[in-house]
Parts: sequence; C-alpha cells; structure tokens
Amino acid sequence: MSNLPYIVGNWKMNGVRAMLAEARSIDRAASRYNKVQVALAPPATLIHRLQEAVENIGVGGQDCRAEESGAFTGDIAAPMLKDAGADFVIVGHSERRAGYGETDEMVRAKAEAALEAGLTVIVCVGETEAERDSGNAEAVVTRQVAGSVPQTKNAADRLSIAYEPVWAIGTGRVPSVADVGSMHCAIRKQLQDIYAKKAAAIRILYGGSVKAENAQELLGAENVGGALVGGASLLADSFIAIVDAASPAKAE
Ligand code: PEP
Repeated sequence: MSNLPYIVGNWKMNGVRAMLAEARSIDRAASRYNKVQVALAPPATLIHRLQEAVENIGVGGQDCRAEESGAFTGDIAAPMLKDAGADFVIVGHSERRAGYGETDEMVRAKAEAALEAGLTVIVCVGETEAERDSGNAEAVVTRQVAGSVPQTKNAADRLSIAYEPVWAIGTGRVPSVADVGSMHCAIRKQLQDIYAKKAAAIRILYGGSVKAENAQELLGAENVGGALVGGASLLADSFIAIVDAASPAKAE
C-alpha cells in the first residue's frame, strides 16, 4: 500500500445528493496534492454517485457486515460496497462499537470480509475517557488492535489503523502530541508482533477533533501516517486545509 499521508473524511450519517458538490470541490482541490492520499467515506446511499463524480480521491464505506449475503435487514455486505464503487471500508468505529455492541471479534470478521471482497480496510481503535483516566489506555488500545485486525494472508498489505480516543471524537478535545506519539508507537509495536516486518508499511491514522488549526502538529507526531476526520471533512475548505497540512512540502 502507499506510504503517502492518508487523509480520510468520515461523513457519518450526513449527506444527500446536494453534498456531491462539496465532494467535487474536495476532489478538484485534492488534485493539487499528489503527495497526499485523500479519501471520503460518505453514507452508503452516496457511494456510487460520489465515486462517479470524483477522479482524484478514494471512496469508501463506513461499515460492512461480515457475511456475504443473507437475512440481515438494513445491513451492507463488503462485496456490495465494492460493487457500488467503494475501494475501502472503515470498520470498528467507536460509534459502532458503542452503539451496536461490536466486539473486537466482530470487527476482525468484518475486516477479513472486506479484504476478501477486494477492499482496503481502516480498523478503528481507541480508549474511553474512563480508560485513559485509570491509566489503562495503552492496554485497552493494544488489546483492541490484537483482537480486531485481520489475520488472513497478506492482510497487512491493505490495512490501515485509525487511533481515535473516544473522548476526542466530536468534542474539540485532543490528546497531547506526546500522548498521540506514544500511543502510535505502542500500536506499531503490537502490529510488529502480529505482522512482523510487514507492520512497517501499515499507516496508523490519528482521529478525533482534527481541524485545520491542529492538523500539522498532530500529523507530525511519531508514527502518525494520516488522519481520520469527521466534522471537518463535511466542508471542502476545512477538509482541504487538513490535506494541505499533511502535504510533505508543508512539513519541510
Ligand atoms: C470520527 O468520528 O471518526 C472523527 C474523528 O470525528 P471528529 O473529527 O468530528 O472528531
């Protein structure tokens, strides 16, 4: 997989066709940043249209079911995302872990189904505020990584991790750069235990209240290979400011 900084927008349950104009603006602007990999995960209803509307950015789903098909009303299988034009999927987002009781085991099954369908995968992990306050953040997150990442052959080649402290999502609060760096190093070590040398190529994204104002600092932390962006990805101006901060030319 690419080693460019990876900036992914998660639109969550936001967006109808009118939002395609915003996606086109993001796509046009992204064409100026050939040293950054940019992608959007719109609601599933927009994946096909969005994919047809853009040329320079990746398009993905926000979740998938592990099964390929069947009696699972309302759910979407990984091959369906692929068929709709997605090239990646986010799995294990904390909103799904908390809201739908998704366990590490379920997240891992989803990730493996996504790889099998030909998608790349972003596996999300992150501690709650109580887990951080009790000093258990690193243990919780490394356990989530160990339990949630795909174990199928060559899985590391098409995998990214998103470290998203639950207390930082949508709150405007962010960990210190040092805390981000030490957590990303702990995640890297865990990935090395699982994938050995192949772990080096896995990008570990930071997510949680990333904005234009803090992006450069957060992206500069050790072992940070990009960002998963929620609120700030809904408008082209705020999202592209983060892409700009990720541009290697900017860091020099
Ligand atoms: C997210 O939900 O993945 C996220 C990072 O949200 P926000 O950027 O709004 O905190």
